[in-house]
Amino acid sequence: MDFADSEDALRRVFGYDSFRGEQKEIVEHVIAGGDALVLMPTGGGKSLCYQVPSLVRRGTGVVISPLIALMQDQVDALRDLGVRAGFLNSTQYPDERALVEAEYVAGELDLLYLAPERLRSESTLRLLDKGEIALFAIDEAHCVSQWGHDFRPDYLSLASLHEQWPSVPRIALTATATEATRKEIASRLSLESGRHFVASFDRPNIQYRIVSKKEPKKQLLELLRGEHAGDSGIVYCLSRASTEKYASFLVENGIPALPYHAGLDSSVRSRNQARFLREDGLVMVATIAFGMGIDKPDVRFVAHLDLPKSVEGYYQETGRAGRDGLPSTAWLAYGLQDVVQQRKMIESSEGDLAHRRRQSLHLDAMLALCESVSCRRAQLLGYFGESASSCGNCDTCLMPPESWDGTVVAQKLLSTVWRLKNERGQKFGAGQAIDILLGRKTAKVIQFDHDSLSVFGIGSDLNESEWRGVVRQLLAQGLLAVEGEYSTLVLTPAASDVLGRKRSVMLRREVRAAKAASSSSSKKPKAAVVELSPEAEPVFEQLRAWRAAAAREQGVPAYVIFHDATLRAIATSAPGSLDELGQVSGVGENKLAKYGEQILEVLAG
Ligand code: ADP
Repeated sequence: MDFADSEDALRRVFGYDSFRGEQKEIVEHVIAGGDALVLMPTGGGKSLCYQVPSLVRRGTGVVISPLIALMQDQVDALRDLGVRAGFLNSTQYPDERALVEAEYVAGELDLLYLAPERLRSESTLRLLDKGEIALFAIDEAHCVSQWGHDFRPDYLSLASLHEQWPSVPRIALTATATEATRKEIASRLSLESGRHFVASFDRPNIQYRIVSKKEPKKQLLELLRGEHAGDSGIVYCLSRASTEKYASFLVENGIPALPYHAGLDSSVRSRNQARFLREDGLVMVATIAFGMGIDKPDVRFVAHLDLPKSVEGYYQETGRAGRDGLPSTAWLAYGLQDVVQQRKMIESSEGDLAHRRRQSLHLDAMLALCESVSCRRAQLLGYFGESASSCGNCDTCLMPPESWDGTVVAQKLLSTVWRLKNERGQKFGAGQAIDILLGRKTAKVIQFDHDSLSVFGIGSDLNESEWRGVVRQLLAQGLLAVEGEYSTLVLTPAASDVLGRKRSVMLRREVRAAKAASSSSSKKPKAAVVELSPEAEPVFEQLRAWRAAAAREQGVPAYVIFHDATLRAIATSAPGSLDELGQVSGVGENKLAKYGEQILEVLAG
């Protein structure tokens, strides 16, 4: 196909009326031959930034991507749009590869996806030279950052693309946000003089909620049954064992779920990943090994059952929800045990002191987010250097927690811990301190004569769960620390100011989970989509059923055929002709020709 301009390609191929945000500027800049570094959050629409210029410019857009397991799906989705796309990676048979190579050389490809390691081989470079290159797109560009969380050595060699093909424009894209990473990407890929496009990292359709972890299984079930019945989602756990445990637990409770972690056989992993992408309503219970590049648009929730190690990690993981822009939930349950466990892990980790300090700072930032009494989104964006006002779509906005003067309570706890420290050779954790404060004569309290301490029973104004909340918050505020194998609670130097009445301590009052949930459903999130009307709802379900059958027949994920957002728009506008159907956002020329008649049949009932 030939295109008059970028908007012509956008409309005819992708079926969209207009570019979003900075897309147009980026696309025009690259079409004109400029280099670009693009930072945009997940779901922001990065792909169009190199796909449209590849269609408009002469030659083939060469896309470097580390996500080998997903290339087939990406290429299938493009072919379904009528784009001539292919890929080259190690999973192919030689004859498949030869076919793609021949298409490239003959100028029959709009887009060619390449794994970065292929560029190490002379034969790939010679091959590229035989065709015409429209541009280089470097996807997941943060993989070039040595200090980032996902360094790939092969990415370092991408700097040489510029030397070999100086007149071919390059566009590097990533969703990893901090200023330091951006600078490193620009310098390693020689993109300092290219234009940098930094979009807002806000994801307004994601509702952020952080709750205190009490009975995680029950809480998770409530979330999934109460708010996300039948939805696809990801549940993140820290350990491999817990992913398996929670996946079986969900299955026992009638929720289809699969585990995913690096310890599973690679064939099981790829089977589970493929099922998650292809089936509707499946829950993936995974370690953080799962998720990069998963561009399933309709992940409706990301739940964390353990505390992420950093705000960056949390933001990346939660960002996998709601790429289609529809309302989605990022839910994290966090408790005292998480803080203790993570502090212990840092203490016993193998890195040098500087490394442990960095990890510790990451954890502090994560804890500050958890214990915040102000807008979560504003805090998150602030972390990435963006300012924002209260969002109205996070738990602290929907159900503002109270903060209260907990100085006296903190003093009670700190002085209990101080007295326990004086027990020669004995080490005690949070449980013992709380039992003493509550005046419980447990066997262990009696054994160590702790019922004779002056602090015994002075904390009966709070219950156990409230005391655990206080311990957690004092850990988060750096007034308490945990040490050693038995997670002994100890005072930090800062605690002496509280004990000496030189400073006060503000605490966050726990909000009851039930109240938070009911209020969130009564208030509309800012980015809420138009609710389907009672007439459109069954039509939408019929369209989904049609899509599921079509996807099965072709062996592709359902969203490759149409996104939920497009099906909703069709159900709502109820087009009566192919022309009208072609006006719906997300229906391009190729899809109209391929599926138009079938959709009209579904609509005609
Ligand atoms: P990213 O790669 O930045 O995570 P994608 O490129 O996958 O994001 O885009 C996210 C979603 O937004 C996709 O479903 C895509 O089709 C849709 N999208 C992108 N640009 C537009 C646009 N201009 N109009 C409508 N939908 C768009």
